[in-house]
Amino acid sequence: MHDKIVVALGGNALGKTPQEQINLVKNTAKPIVDLIQHGHQVTLAHGNGPQVGMINLAMDTASKTAASTPEMPFPECGAMSQGYIGYHLQNAIREEMLGRNISKPVATVVTQVIVDKNDEAFVKPTKPIGAFYTEEEAQELITEKGFDMVEDAGRGYRRVVPSPLPIDVAEKEVVKTLVDNDCIVITVGGGGIPVVKDGNKLIGVPAVIDKDFASSKIAEILDADYLIILTAVEKVAINFGTKNEKWLDKLTLEEAQQYIDEGHFAPGSMLPKVKAAMMFASSKKGRKALITSLEKAEEGIEGKTGTLIINE
Ligand code: ADP
Ligand code: MG
Repeated sequence: MHDKIVVALGGNALGKTPQEQINLVKNTAKPIVDLIQHGHQVTLAHGNGPQVGMINLAMDTASKTAASTPEMPFPECGAMSQGYIGYHLQNAIREEMLGRNISKPVATVVTQVIVDKNDEAFVKPTKPIGAFYTEEEAQELITEKGFDMVEDAGRGYRRVVPSPLPIDVAEKEVVKTLVDNDCIVITVGGGGIPVVKDGNKLIGVPAVIDKDFASSKIAEILDADYLIILTAVEKVAINFGTKNEKWLDKLTLEEAQQYIDEGHFAPGSMLPKVKAAMMFASSKKGRKALITSLEKAEEGIEGKTGTLIINE
């Protein structure tokens, strides 16, 4: 069967530095091109935590020390990260496809994701980003720029930004048109550049949309059959990391909700994946979400491994 698949890549698919990333994506491209080779229509999403952190930190540091370097707003840092991660991914996927005599166009779309300015996440920013500051510097940033600053585990003060939910994808018609024309598209990188609507304007806001939720949203918009979240573990577990650990093959929406309520999934890592998988699976009957590792993507879609979340 030929499925329409949205694949969400986790941190382990990209690495932390540009050199590490350009090497790692060569491997990342293989299971993705396996899926393409088997006739699936693949659209890619990815995280950007370490990358946007690096860009933000570099720009912060440079603007603190060099008068010639302007301050770089956080949404712009996100856009930069989408560009350079997309460049590496499209480069590696193109090469892997050509090596197998597949000629399909591949491109990255700089993607804005619309969030609700009344999202309760804006009331309590939680996501630390960028450089560490002293208490005095932190105080200055609070009064001068209105930043939210928190003390981060004894290491100094850091800026925190909200993590709102994605509502819509501004470039969705472009992405759809490309996908319908058999292009491989890399989109909603890092969860997308968060923007709020103001009349005809889309205004970038300093925030981080979870890439798992953004992937679920674009999968819904594209009417995908499958959302595949590729991460560092082959399956989702209950009692994770304990002697009662149990790896799960299949979860109904009810079971998933029960395990969430029982606190089996760590917030900030597995919880958003399970929730994103549930959001997609519950959006329409027949939609399936799979959480597995990059290496097991192919076996996962063949039903041999991974944790499948289904709407029964
Ligand atoms: P990604 O970069 O792919 O988003 P994360 O580190 O955010 O990766 O999330 C994946 C990690 O979640 C796994 O490597 C694992 O250590 C952790 N994790 C937390 N709870 C669970 C669980 N219940 N089952 C499996 N993995 C879990
Ligand atoms: Mg994550």
